[in-house]
Amino acid sequence: MLTKTFRTCLLAGISSTVMLSACTPSEQEVTLDQVPPVLQDVPPAGQLPEGVVPTAYRLDLYTDPAEDAFSGQVEIDVTLTEPHARIWLHSIDHEVSSAQAVLADGSALEAVFTRSTADGGVSRLDFATPVPKGNSTLVLDYTAPYNFGLAGLYKAEQNGRPYLATQMEPIDARRLVPNFDEPRFKTSWTLTVSTPPGNQVITNGGLKAQTTLDDGTIQFQFATTREIQSYLVALAVGPYDLRDGGVLPPNEIRPRAVPFRGFSPAGKGDQLEEAMAITDEMVTWQEAYFDYPYPYGKLDLIAAPDFAYGAMENAGAIIYRESRLLMNDRTSLANRRRAMTTHAHELGHQWFGNLVTPRWWNDIWLNEAFATWISYKTMNAVYPNTGFDVAAQRAAIGAMDNDSLASARQIRNPIDRNADILDAFDAITYRKGGGVLSMFENYLGEDAFREGIRLHMRRFEDGVADVDDFMTSIADGSKTPDVVASFNSFIMQPGIPNLDVNFTCPAPDAGLISVTQSRYAPLGSAIDPNAQSWAIPFAIKMAGANGERTIREMFTGTALEIPLDGGCPDWVMPNADGAGYWRFTLNEPAWRSLIANYDRLSPSEQLSFADSVTAAFAAGSLSANTLLAALEVNATGTWSAALDPLPNLQTYLNALPDETSKESFRDFVMTAYGARWDRLSTSPSESLTEGEQLLKTGLNARLLEVGRLPEDRARLAASAAAYVGVINEPDTTALSPDLVQTAIAIAAGDDDSAFFQAALDYAESAPSQRERRQVYYTLARHGGEADVIALMDMVRTDAFEGQVAWGVYLSALRNEAARAQAWEKFQADFSDVIAKTPEIRKPQTAQLVSYFCTAEEIDAAIAFLTANADLIPGYERRLAQASESARLCAAFRTAKGNELAAALQAR
Ligand SMILES: [Zn+2]
Repeated sequence: MLTKTFRTCLLAGISSTVMLSACTPSEQEVTLDQVPPVLQDVPPAGQLPEGVVPTAYRLDLYTDPAEDAFSGQVEIDVTLTEPHARIWLHSIDHEVSSAQAVLADGSALEAVFTRSTADGGVSRLDFATPVPKGNSTLVLDYTAPYNFGLAGLYKAEQNGRPYLATQMEPIDARRLVPNFDEPRFKTSWTLTVSTPPGNQVITNGGLKAQTTLDDGTIQFQFATTREIQSYLVALAVGPYDLRDGGVLPPNEIRPRAVPFRGFSPAGKGDQLEEAMAITDEMVTWQEAYFDYPYPYGKLDLIAAPDFAYGAMENAGAIIYRESRLLMNDRTSLANRRRAMTTHAHELGHQWFGNLVTPRWWNDIWLNEAFATWISYKTMNAVYPNTGFDVAAQRAAIGAMDNDSLASARQIRNPIDRNADILDAFDAITYRKGGGVLSMFENYLGEDAFREGIRLHMRRFEDGVADVDDFMTSIADGSKTPDVVASFNSFIMQPGIPNLDVNFTCPAPDAGLISVTQSRYAPLGSAIDPNAQSWAIPFAIKMAGANGERTIREMFTGTALEIPLDGGCPDWVMPNADGAGYWRFTLNEPAWRSLIANYDRLSPSEQLSFADSVTAAFAAGSLSANTLLAALEVNATGTWSAALDPLPNLQTYLNALPDETSKESFRDFVMTAYGARWDRLSTSPSESLTEGEQLLKTGLNARLLEVGRLPEDRARLAASAAAYVGVINEPDTTALSPDLVQTAIAIAAGDDDSAFFQAALDYAESAPSQRERRQVYYTLARHGGEADVIALMDMVRTDAFEGQVAWGVYLSALRNEAARAQAWEKFQADFSDVIAKTPEIRKPQTAQLVSYFCTAEEIDAAIAFLTANADLIPGYERRLAQASESARLCAAFRTAKGNELAAALQAR
């Protein structure tokens, strides 16, 4: 195929105009009919073809939340690098009544719009006469239905009142308006929105004018935005409550004030107060970090009546799931921390993602890993001493189960088709990404790392940047170019480095530390541990006769030897500061000496210890005896370390082969954690740190499941009955917000239909959407078989939103008591339930395979989903990962159940 320039010259040469001399493209001298249309017949699967660049959008909409459809006219200024008879753009569900290109001279070319049913809604405009090179304006009139699956411009009801909200990322702006829906296109957007009276209208730009039209409709005209990508466009219309927050006042970095408001579904405006009160402090801290003012003209926070994600960072108009923004005195500590962290995350995106944007979805980690990482830094700054200093590390460890899979994604993963884009929004991108950033911040030093970030913001403001651009910024800003190879080794390949560390002491005054690296692989994994390696900013802490010290070395290759002068260590901790994204293992004597010196580790090191201990056991490199000893000492550690292995306790209990060993395990758990629990449970909450309160809540739930707390169990069940009102009216003072979920789970587990029914009634009128859903899911997960099946039938009806139906169906499959029946019912109702499930949840349905742990169940679940693949498009990676997790569960039981039982018996 000819290159574009060559073709232009060739065509110019055969035209009658004199063009041969320079052979430069100067189409103004070429008449249009001499240029064949630039045709591409197959809709592009990933990025749109080059050559057509949008430069501005003007969008005029009529929306009425009471109706089921909306209408609009969009004008898109475009620049063509050569004449085009066919222009590809994105559009889903639009009925286009007219389409044309208005040329620079004011003349118009009519176009035929063809809506595509292909993946990603890639549609096209065909012109009988090609649109010439240069600037023109595409004008399309259209109507479209509101989406009812929480994507694009969607409709959701609350308390019988209809609302509109948007969720565009990643690729649903194409449901609102035909557009060039890719992050690399950053343009201004100017919106005009007309709607019947009584509605708030919020979008990215500030309100410029409001006019009542002759028919009574109110027309809102909004200011033109700074250059943003299409997925940041936001619109909310409906009877939202408004809280005027005045302005974020000017500060050292920003001379102008920023108008500031909050919106909630009707009647909930008071619950905006807490998040609004902290916003100025968060924004000011982030502005100082970036040394760059908040980029947009105003800031609105909007709690949507229903929302698929946690929140969305739309420029200047952030939209949240209710539970991530609205708070009151019934909000639990964990939910309050989650909401505030989400808020800090979305604010951080105003720079990471909005001001500087990835070119394509393979670099979405440049948004999400960074927003995750800076959310924890922001939280630690505005709420000091509340445990956010270990938040990035905890999040990274939370991603390691996923990163232990052979099917794990890498942080920066190729994306060649639209259907793969959603895969990139996973724990690897957010949590591992945030942890890896934290590791390199620790390695470079906070100041040097920040210089790199600041440089990056200045270099690419209002533009797009990819991984190479970022690496150049961080190398230049930190003045440490050699960090790039190491950074890339963590970004560009999946998995967790596993460091096998040993030390020998041939003489009392000389020691040798030897380290080998491989990829972490749990028992039963298909991973080849030796197929890859990293450049690891290794740091090891040790102590001996000469005191404590830390050795740091860039570890490349597969083996590292560190000779020690000045004495042999008594113990080593192969993840100094706990800052490294790796796991370690030791020989048995070295584990034992580390366990003996556990209390000399920092909180982050204790957390790293806890993770590595359980990981080493799951990989077969640590004995069950040593595991139990390590868990015992770790139960005395700082709150985050003590909390870390709790989920594994259920795994261990389930792996044990008989009731005798299960009873021994319960004994062990109470021996290890009993004293800690007694102290926490008898201390008033005010005397505990936030971390200790989290440990108390987590420990309570876990000890009820895998330990023995008969008195607590009876007391909680009674409180839950009073709370939901089994006999009297519901009494919300009967349980503290932190205990509601645990208590309802306990009471539901008693298979008491009177409680189940009362809880359903309570949920129907629960004060918050979050609690309402939590009650339904908890009942489905823990209730008796007959009640759970009835609940599944109930949520299928129109009275329940698809999100709840989907959540209840999946929760029921995790219910040991009801699973067999629930699985039958799940299969029978599958197409009905999926039809009402929100778009983004459909592929996530495949996660259900991971709830199973026997080969027979796993195979049946995979076969069912594969047979129904057309209903859950984009499910492939979820299925692969869930299947792998399930098979690893089965392999762990086979490999470790008896050994663990023997170790328990021997104690
Ligand atoms: Zn985000």
